Amino acid sequence: MNEPVFTCARCRRERPASERRGFDDRDYCPRCLDAITTLCHICGARFRLIDNCGTEAVPLCKTCLDIHNRAGIRDYCHKPRPIFYGSGPRYFGVELEIDDGGEYDSSANAIMSVANTEREYIYCKHDGSLDEGLEIVSHPMSVDYHLNAAPWPEIIDKALELGYTSHQAGTCGLHVHVSRAAFGPTEEHQDAAIARVLYFFEKHWEELLKFSRRTQKQLDDWASRYGYRTEPKDILDHAKKGNGRGRYSAVNLTNPDTVEFRMFRGTLKLNTFLATLQLLDRICDVALSMSDSQIKDMSWTTFVTGCTAPELVQYLKERRLYVNEPVACEEEV
Ligand SMILES: [Zn+2]
Ligand SMILES: [Zn+2]
Repeated sequence: MNEPVFTCARCRRERPASERRGFDDRDYCPRCLDAITTLCHICGARFRLIDNCGTEAVPLCKTCLDIHNRAGIRDYCHKPRPIFYGSGPRYFGVELEIDDGGEYDSSANAIMSVANTEREYIYCKHDGSLDEGLEIVSHPMSVDYHLNAAPWPEIIDKALELGYTSHQAGTCGLHVHVSRAAFGPTEEHQDAAIARVLYFFEKHWEELLKFSRRTQKQLDDWASRYGYRTEPKDILDHAKKGNGRGRYSAVNLTNPDTVEFRMFRGTLKLNTFLATLQLLDRICDVALSMSDSQIKDMSWTTFVTGCTAPELVQYLKERRLYVNEPVACEEEV
């Protein structure tokens, strides 16, 4: 007796009926079904790849994205499975605090709705250091993705429209988590590069303080330094021994998967926001490409001369950290 067969709607081959997979009123063979569909990582529903609101690695269906965009302000400890955008291993996860506009679920939903139109890029969290605001948290993205594909212009416009400030509130930070994997293939490589990052922060603290638009007092409270040592690895050893203020350090090393840069004051000025990401990108470049002695010999002037991203150059000029030439600039918001 012949086994019953069916014809796959995609490859048109005849297959045994036991392999029939129904989807959207059509029948497919298993291979073709997997080629055009995937499963939502939240609800498990099958949907077409072209409707994916996440990534290939972490697929998300439109229904779950819509639910997410109406979820309001999450708990401080909310930590969803990360969705990585762009190519690695250097991923930046951004936490942008905004204040003075109310801690409203409706505002969080309005911001998420302009940001997460096709993909889940951000969510909103409660932050105890704010008076009447919230924290906007991005999924990890490559720097290129942040600069060219992420909906930061829309997020910033919506936050301003809703009456929020960030720089002007005085309470807000802009924190950036950089994946540890960005600093090298092994823990040893990573530690050596991270030590050079710490050295860079200690050596150029005055310039970075100016860049950050924080006061020294604010940094002592929320993002303190470890203290200068003449060798990069001595600063890392000092930090690892629990000196400094743990997670309230300018470069927070307490997370297993990321290094968190906490020094920068929040901003809803797009150029300043992008310049901050570009600065950190350049610091990573330098820490990865230079030896200990090269980074020790590098002056701030040499460092900024190598900065080419237009937003970063503009911002360095505004803060008189580039060259002494007057520059027209808009007020911080
Ligand atoms: Zn097929
Ligand atoms: Zn789903």
